[in-house]
Amino acid sequence: MITDLFINGEFKSTKEKQNIVNPSTGKVIAEVSLASSAEVELALASAREAFDQGPWPQFSLLQRKDFILKIAQGILDNAAELAQLETQNTGKPIKETTFMDIPSSAKTFEFMANNFMSYLVNEEIEVSEDAKSRLIREPMGVVVLIVPWNYPLLITCWKLASALAAGNTVILKPSSITPLTTLELAKIIHQAGLPDGVVNVINGSGAKIGDELCVDKRVDMVSFTGSNEVGKQIMQYSSRNVKKMTLELGGKSASLVFNDVELEVAVNSCLASIFLNQGQMCTAMSRIFVQEDIYDEFLADFVEKAKRIRLGLADNFETQMGPLINDAQRKKVIAYIDKAKAEGAKLVCGGRIPENPELKNGYFFEPTVLIDVNVHSHIFREEVFGPVVLINKFSGSDEAAILANSVDFGLAACIWSKDLFLAQELAKKINAGIVWINTYGMFYNQLPYGGFKQSGFGKELGKEGFLEYTRLKNVILDQSSEAKPLVNYWYGF
Ligand code: NAD
Repeated sequence: MITDLFINGEFKSTKEKQNIVNPSTGKVIAEVSLASSAEVELALASAREAFDQGPWPQFSLLQRKDFILKIAQGILDNAAELAQLETQNTGKPIKETTFMDIPSSAKTFEFMANNFMSYLVNEEIEVSEDAKSRLIREPMGVVVLIVPWNYPLLITCWKLASALAAGNTVILKPSSITPLTTLELAKIIHQAGLPDGVVNVINGSGAKIGDELCVDKRVDMVSFTGSNEVGKQIMQYSSRNVKKMTLELGGKSASLVFNDVELEVAVNSCLASIFLNQGQMCTAMSRIFVQEDIYDEFLADFVEKAKRIRLGLADNFETQMGPLINDAQRKKVIAYIDKAKAEGAKLVCGGRIPENPELKNGYFFEPTVLIDVNVHSHIFREEVFGPVVLINKFSGSDEAAILANSVDFGLAACIWSKDLFLAQELAKKINAGIVWINTYGMFYNQLPYGGFKQSGFGKELGKEGFLEYTRLKNVILDQSSEAKPLVNYWYGF
């Protein structure tokens, strides 16, 4: 297991360490080096030099493609170990890491190696008889990638694959709670033979090193995924030296379930859309609105199935829900439920720490359902980031749109209906960056993903996500030997 930072092509141990805990057992599983200002400085210098001196940005597209494909292969070659590590570090059920997180991480590298790099080819535009422009699409330069703890490797790979394919050099900062698979990825990158300094991984507390990392003039862009609170902080940092950034922040997304649905499909999908990864998903459908006629039936089925969800140690293939990431997160969830009840919500499922003795040292929590939730209450409007869902009623499509849009976030929504015309019309009215109709949670490498409103701005994945890591230079070339148009106007010729 790698526990050191990765800077300028070398693994580096530091004095200051952090314990990494397995959320299923509460046991320490590793002691990882933490970066201080000195390591931040080394990483900044290394990434800057690797960009300015090359050869990474100057490599041909084919050369870069080769390296990126080697990273994809490295992830696949180490898939089982990476899945185990991610599960131990996050508490994410092993089935999810084995079949989703790790293979999807490799796929994103593969996809970015094979697509979109052609957008880096210059475009020539004739603008007059004498003048033409060459539009040069170039990498941003040095990019800082900051990643949360809920999908440590996958979100890292979304960012990293695009940034590298575009020719940038990178400083990666995983969440200090979940650095293990990112450090393992550093080893894979090292083995793939990328030049020193192209990728640097510094683990550390955001509160301590975030400022130095994001404000520094050697950094050209910050790509951040995380909470709304820290996102606002990153905006402040980035404003100090006017820096490009993308922000993928939190959500309070809504599923809208219409009368005409196949009830079982809708119930099962809605269960997954909130309880997958213990509800610790930015796109968790934490508010479900069901049309009046089927509300009672939907609720009864949902609650009955929620009670049957198999909670268990995350490394067991039978487990459907593992633990929350840590005790602080569990306390936050409990506080939200208490506040919701005080504000009039009714608890109809869960709301407790499970009694199973096998789970007593981990941070487990039962899948929880609240009904009769007031639209002004905290739980209706704020992100809980845990296995807690509210299920309320709506009458028709106009009210559904109002409810979905009635929070400050705008990340995602789901519409469940057989009436595809109604669903598509409704999707137009929803103020969210991604709307799934009769499906949930599908991310495709070829499609952009990102939120509106306080869920942030900028895209990950897709052509648009790739282009975020590039900038456009306009080189205008006038070949006439005579005086130039602007000069003519100026002198009044
Ligand atoms: P967080 O904001 O606490 O931390 C995210 C990252 O920022 C971590 O690496 C952390 O160390 C770092 N950080 C913290 N303070 C910093 C600072 N002052 N300067 C620089 N970096 C700093 O988020 P989290 O608790 O790790 O993750 C959960 C949050 O992430 C939720 O709000 C969730 O919705 C959001 N999220 C959003 C998306 C999306 O795509 N929109 C995806 C996953 C998670």
